[in-house]
Amino acid sequence: MNVDGIKNGIVIDHISAGKAMQLYRMLGLERLDCCIAVIQNVQSNKMGKKDIIKIDSDIHIDLDVIGFISPDATVNVIRDARIIDKKHIAPPKRLVDIIRCKNPRCITTTEQEIRHVFIQTGRGEYRCVYCDTKATL
Ligand SMILES: [Zn+2]
Repeated sequence: MNVDGIKNGIVIDHISAGKAMQLYRMLGLERLDCCIAVIQNVQSNKMGKKDIIKIDSDIHIDLDVIGFISPDATVNVIRDARIIDKKHIAPPKRLVDIIRCKNPRCITTTEQEIRHVFIQTGRGEYRCVYCDTKATL
C-alpha cells in the first residue's frame, strides 16, 4: 500500500466507503494539528470502493470506535515510512463513552456522572445497558 507522505503515523485502510468522515469526527481528528488526509471512494479489489484516512502523527487511536463504525477496517502503524504493525479490527463487545443513548427517559440523560455503555446484541447492533434502546448514530 502507498504510504507516501507518512513518516511516523497511522493509516486506517479498508474503511467502508462513505464512513470516513463519520470516523474522522468520532475519533476527534479535527482536534489534531498534524497533517491528515481523508481519501474517499478509492477503488479496491477486495471491497469495490473504500475510504482511507492517513494521519501523519503517532497518536493513540480508539480501535473500538473503528470497530463500531467500520469493523472491516485495518490500521497500519507507520515508522520511518514503513508499515511496522497491522492491526485487524473486530467489532467491540462493549462501547463505553463512545456514543450516547437517544432515549430521553434513559438514566444516562439525567445522571451526568454515569458512563454511556452499550453491549453488542447482534451483528452491528448495540443496545444501551440501562434501557435497552438500540444504538443509532
Ligand atoms: Zn439508555
